[in-house]
Amino acid sequence: MTPIASTQARPRIVIIGAGFGGLSAAKQLVRAPFDVTVVDRHNYHLFQPLLYQVATAGLSPADIASPIRGILRRQKNAHVILAKVSGVDTVRKEVVAEGRRIPFDYLIVATGPSTLISGTIGRLTRRA
Ligand SMILES: Cc1cc2nc3c(=O)[nH]c(=O)nc-3n(C[C@H](O)[C@H](O)[C@H](O)COP(=O)(O)OP(=O)(O)OC[C@H]3O[C@@H](n4cnc5c(N)ncnc54)[C@H](O)[C@@H]3O)c2cc1C
Repeated sequence: MTPIASTQARPRIVIIGAGFGGLSAAKQLVRAPFDVTVVDRHNYHLFQPLLYQVATAGLSPADIASPIRGILRRQKNAHVILAKVSGVDTVRKEVVAEGRRIPFDYLIVATGPSTLISGTIGRLTRRA
């Protein structure tokens, strides 16, 4: 498994999920003295409230999906990793995602409502 090289001295915040919650957290940190890494299994943010418009052919899928890198392109302290997270190593403080290990000092899990419903956090930590 390849560890992500880290040369930074600033505390690292890793945010899993670039939905409303994850992106909101990342943007709040724009002027904070942290390095922010956003990890999502998709390269786009999906505006879910307008899904019904796509289902009824009122909009095309591209109208409600925006590239995550585009949304955060002006935020100098943020970068984006496209990968599905499969675990969190809470001892080594690393997020495990498709063969990568992404180190963090602080972790924000924003993987959506299913986190609470199906116990995603528990599964993620056990698999690490
Ligand atoms: C059809 C529909 C209509 C809705 N309408 C409204 C509305 O009108 N008003 C309203 O307030 N709310 C509405 N909601 C609810 C609203 O969309 C959600 O509350 C909101 O999207 C939750 O945001 P979130 O950031 O918690 O999760 P999400 O927006 O679901 O984002 C989670 C992100 O985590 C990523 N992710 C998940 N697991 C992993 C993993 N293992 N590795 C990497 N990335 C991962 C996903 O790809 C996703 O980008 C609606 C929802 C739906 C489905």
